[in-house]
Amino acid sequence: MSAPGGAARKGRFAPSPTGPLHFGSVVAAVGSYLDARSSGAAWLLRIEDVDVPRCVPGAAEGILRTLERLGLEWDGPVLWQSSRTEVYRAALERLMAAGRVFGCICTRRALADARLARDGTRRYAGTCRDGLPPGRTARAFRLRVEPGCVRFVDRIQGPIEEDVAADVGDFVVLRADGYFAYQLAVVVDDAEAGITDVVRGADLLDSTPRQLLLQRALGLPQPAYAHVPVVTNGAGEKLSKQTLAQAVDGLAPGGVVADALRFLGHPPPAALGGAAPAELLAWAQGIWSLARVPCVRGAPMPGYG
Ligand code: GLU
Repeated sequence: MSAPGGAARKGRFAPSPTGPLHFGSVVAAVGSYLDARSSGAAWLLRIEDVDVPRCVPGAAEGILRTLERLGLEWDGPVLWQSSRTEVYRAALERLMAAGRVFGCICTRRALADARLARDGTRRYAGTCRDGLPPGRTARAFRLRVEPGCVRFVDRIQGPIEEDVAADVGDFVVLRADGYFAYQLAVVVDDAEAGITDVVRGADLLDSTPRQLLLQRALGLPQPAYAHVPVVTNGAGEKLSKQTLAQAVDGLAPGGVVADALRFLGHPPPAALGGAAPAELLAWAQGIWSLARVPCVRGAPMPGYG
């Protein structure tokens, strides 16, 4: 592994260890790796095991081995979210002290009839916003979201806007099962690591406005975002554990990297047919441009899914 080298710009790959790496995650990894390396930025690795119930034992170690086989070398030590509960708690306490969060007693069942937000979560109608009935203890904590559009310009997808209050409502930062929500963990970790450039799958585009609101509430800097298309299967669904996406472990690593480059609009020349991952990545680093990445949220890739 190379040293972080004090680079001013930093990118990262942040897989959740819910199963082995599939082609869709490799695309996100290759995209963020090349975006970082082509601009002299550091590339950090964070294992997002904050959602402990969804983590699969051994999956994280498998992901690290697969990244190594694919020639995707990261800088510095791996950050494990499971070791950062106290940091997330401190962030929550700051939000509490500033009156930006409130306790909520609503159960999943109580919210079952609420309208669905873009990402499939239930919109929160504000039931507990003004305080809990006497004697009741909060199950979860939610960020108080004010009406108004949150806007940012994605480096691939262009201008994005969402009225989070209307679409999602006040959203969970500490879950009823005691685990911190991904939205909080990701902004705290990106800020503390000094991440300047987030490159990840377009399935997370709908989470970004929530993350911007949390960054503002916590006074954290906002990184630049680029959301690469997700890989879909024949039914148009994102490759994932749920759609039984095939692990890339059994495939030739050079072929997987070449396919990821093709998917990202950087097809390797015929002369690199059969090349090893390091050679393909070195070539791609020299010509990498986000302008060549297809500006769509998802696309199929023959041979995968
Ligand atoms: N852990 C998330 C995932 O595997 C990625 C989070 C991020 O890149 O912000 O989908």
